Amino acid sequence: SREVVAIVGRPNVGKSTLFNKLAGAKISIVEDTPGVTRDRIYADVEWLNYNFTIIDTGGIEPTTDDKMLSYMRKQAEVAIDTASVIVFVVDVKSGLTDADYKVADMLRRAHKPVVLCVNKVDNREKLQYDVFEFYNLGLGEPFAISSAQSTGIGDMLDEVVSHF
Ligand code: GDP
Ligand code: MG
Repeated sequence: SREVVAIVGRPNVGKSTLFNKLAGAKISIVEDTPGVTRDRIYADVEWLNYNFTIIDTGGIEPTTDDKMLSYMRKQAEVAIDTASVIVFVVDVKSGLTDADYKVADMLRRAHKPVVLCVNKVDNREKLQYDVFEFYNLGLGEPFAISSAQSTGIGDMLDEVVSHF
């Protein structure tokens, strides 16, 4: 059966930007009926000889901090239930947050492969040391990417498909 890759992470880290880059024009399910809130969208991705489905789990985002934890928990549950590999996106500009640590704990308990993706590394030279901080999440090597500039994404996808 088809491999599924779920993208999780706090609001504003760049999940949807990454999703759209990976999906290109091939977003397969988009529910854009007015008034219908979608909580995840799917797209088919081809990388090397692999075809897989990606899910952006970040549809309904919390507006207040006290809703953050239940939001993150739901995201993590969706990812853990449906994905064979989880892409956990964090933000080099905001640095590590409590919510990042909590998601990392949830994902670790699931015993599924997690690829840690440090987004917004627009200037690799300048920001390389800031990326090291994310080793503290205990999820292995952080992959530095810029979804906006489409850099680092190939190495990250190589890691993703290595878990299929
Ligand atoms: P989401 O809430 O996690 O889905 O995040 P979005 O994809 O909506 O992005 C949140 C904001 O971060 C937007 O203003 C994006 O343009 C910006 N963003 C996303 N990726 C990058 C990146 O690689 N570099 C920079 N500088 N900004 C980014
Ligand atoms: Mg989003």
